[in-house]
Amino acid sequence: MSALRWLSLPLLTLAVPAGFTFWAFPEGLSPVRTVAIVIGWIGCGLLLVNLLLMLREPRLAGWLGGLERMYLWHHRTGVAAYVLLLAHPLLLATDGLADSPTVAWQTLAPLDESWPVWSGWLALVLLMLGLAVTFLRRMPYRAWRWLHAALGAAVLLGLYHLILLGIDEPVLPILAIAALILGWRAVRGDWGLAAQPYVVASARRVAEGTVEIALRPLADPLAVAPGQFILVAFFAGPNFRGCGEFHPFTVSSIGRDHMLHIGVRALGDCTRRIQSIQPGVAARVMGAFGNFLAERTSAPQLWVAGGIGVTPFLGVLRAGGISAPTTLLYLNRSETDAAFLPELRAIAAATPLLSLLAVATGSALPDLEHLLPEAQHLAGCECYLCGPPGLVAALKRVLRQRGITARHIHFENFEFR
Ligand SMILES: Cc1cc2nc3c(=O)[nH]c(=O)nc-3n(C[C@H](O)[C@H](O)[C@H](O)COP(=O)(O)OP(=O)(O)OC[C@H]3O[C@@H](n4cnc5c(N)ncnc54)[C@H](O)[C@@H]3O)c2cc1C
Repeated sequence: MSALRWLSLPLLTLAVPAGFTFWAFPEGLSPVRTVAIVIGWIGCGLLLVNLLLMLREPRLAGWLGGLERMYLWHHRTGVAAYVLLLAHPLLLATDGLADSPTVAWQTLAPLDESWPVWSGWLALVLLMLGLAVTFLRRMPYRAWRWLHAALGAAVLLGLYHLILLGIDEPVLPILAIAALILGWRAVRGDWGLAAQPYVVASARRVAEGTVEIALRPLADPLAVAPGQFILVAFFAGPNFRGCGEFHPFTVSSIGRDHMLHIGVRALGDCTRRIQSIQPGVAARVMGAFGNFLAERTSAPQLWVAGGIGVTPFLGVLRAGGISAPTTLLYLNRSETDAAFLPELRAIAAATPLLSLLAVATGSALPDLEHLLPEAQHLAGCECYLCGPPGLVAALKRVLRQRGITARHIHFENFEFR
């Protein structure tokens, strides 16, 4: 990743809150009250950055280093904003202590107050709810998403709270920008205005619980590079009802006439339903996103795929794109559910630069200490990891123990939260 792209997110996260603080810096107040108000503005700035980072626009994602990185900073800015906004009323109460404990208590006790203060507290509670669910990995994704959306309502309510307090000069434009970003995400991202129409041209089973689908464009095709992913929503067909919501899938190959192929593994409700998809089903597609395998060097490479995490590697191999000695370690539960394994064996047999090691690990966590190459074989290697977050985290840990620095470990988690 270029230095500019790497710096883009930290710079944005600094610049917006700094701009707010500069614009609305309070004068003539006590030091504690000044700090309370400044951190309130920094929190507001962080929340605006947080909202911006949930947009799913390929160009924006390209500038900011990818969707996965945007989601990571979305999470970080949300947590930081919450901590600051919680400190804001506490500091205001501390300032009130200079007058009397009663004044301090009245600042904190919402029951003694009126709607302008209640709205601030309600915004904080919603913010806490929205943030708390980001840490809940076991909650069903759909319920998680609705609860997480409480964050959007919290931002609007928090800004409304400032307007009720009479601070409308910088707040009205901020409220307008926040509403625009939320509307943008809802209309273009969730309802799919940014998506292109495609149709399912074919579907074939490639392993137990995995189907590969070919998608034909019905309008301008998307520009997709091997290894990138798209967001796809499937709708109704003659004997099929898709779930109609956008899910990320990696493009496993780009065919003639811009046909996109995706391999879909049954990992939950929606992907289980997709296993019975038929030609003719309407789809909408957004993207493309991701730069996981885009910036490879000529150094020897270790690719590690966990289950369906093999699709970005398959995409690159099908496009004929390796020019460095590469080892693909393909971890799967069993031979029968290892998608694309026969094809990968055939590619490896015809590609001298590629060695394939497919390991059926059963349902237990694989013994990575034994499966990964020893430190001396990893020296000078670039490592690319793709699969479920738990596996990717475990792989990173072992690689770091073997002396591989973070700069040489590239990864894509097959889960957004
Ligand atoms: C970058 C990326 C590339 C992926 N590529 C592939 C691929 O090539 N083939 C494949 O089979 N799977 C791929 N996945 C995983 C796939 O997106 C999930 O398996 C699928 O969304 C699960 O949906 P579900 O409703 O069936 O399962 P659920 O049980 O609802 O979800 C299982 C998990 O998938 C994630 N998920 C669910 N819905 C969404 C959504 N709308 N947006 C984002 N994440 C969601 C959540 O983290 C959830 O915990 C990829 C995921 C990511 C992030």
